[in-house]
Amino acid sequence: MSGAVERHLLPDSAEVGSDGWLTIGGCHTRELAERYGTPLFVYDEEHLRVRCREAVAAFGDGVAYASKAFLCLAMAQLVHQEGMCIDVAAGGELNVALAAGVPAGRLVLHGNNKSVDELARAREVGVGRIVVDSFDELDRLETLHAIDGIAPRVLLRITPGIEAHTHEFVRTGQDDSKFGFTLSTEAAAAAVNRARQSDAVELVGLHAHIGSQVFVADFFREAVKALAPFFGRLDLPELSIGGGIGVAYVNGERAPSITEWADAVHRACAEAGIGATVSAEPGRAIAAQAAVTLYT
Ligand SMILES: *Cc1c(COP(=O)(O)O)cnc(C)c1O
Repeated sequence: MSGAVERHLLPDSAEVGSDGWLTIGGCHTRELAERYGTPLFVYDEEHLRVRCREAVAAFGDGVAYASKAFLCLAMAQLVHQEGMCIDVAAGGELNVALAAGVPAGRLVLHGNNKSVDELARAREVGVGRIVVDSFDELDRLETLHAIDGIAPRVLLRITPGIEAHTHEFVRTGQDDSKFGFTLSTEAAAAAVNRARQSDAVELVGLHAHIGSQVFVADFFREAVKALAPFFGRLDLPELSIGGGIGVAYVNGERAPSITEWADAVHRACAEAGIGATVSAEPGRAIAAQAAVTLYT
């Protein structure tokens, strides 16, 4: 048997009552299980709100919650109320966020190989940013533009050639990643040139997401350093460093806070001479420890 779960792995409001039962947000977990049945996901609302506020304080207005970490109508509303934008990948997440009443301008559309229908809908509702992943998507955006003349604001997803020490299935920054335009092969430069010459998009910046469960802030520093010479020449207003800061799931794991991560990213950008607005997309760091699952 392993020992007790370490306190920092649990939601902020978790407590063990005098009867020996866990409470979350003042709710008795046995009563929750009896009322709703199990398995039951229990989220600590205040924990989620505090992490969203921390992200906004650390990165500013454009910071986005990566909704694949946890999304439902109430979560989309909470995130929006706390001042974060929302990353949505593909039509399903886009529709949940819109159904929750989040203004389209606060949404960022992600995904590799977005369909024509998804791109068309995102443009029609007016999402704030589309993160373009491939030349095929630029083709699709141009085809749609020829029909209706809509030119969305876009970021280009760049693969900076960084191998973060995380599990290979959640590593996305290396050169053979299926995501984005590779920096080292000139694909990134070609994509920027094409986007700048195209009437179908308004290029506002670059995006890079090096992977998930990255525990060492140095990898973000490396990514910023790798991107800086290229980004610096382009004179673009926005740089998104993606998400991926690790969270602790098991005893013995320690992870940086959102604030510590942001400080490391901002220091790296200052060192690299990047004066653009630097933003980020935390997912797990907002949601992971806010929840427990109850079983019988
Ligand atoms: C998954 C993902 C994130 C968030 O990753 P976390 O590990 O949950 O912080 C951010 N941006 C993109 C593009 C992603 O795919």
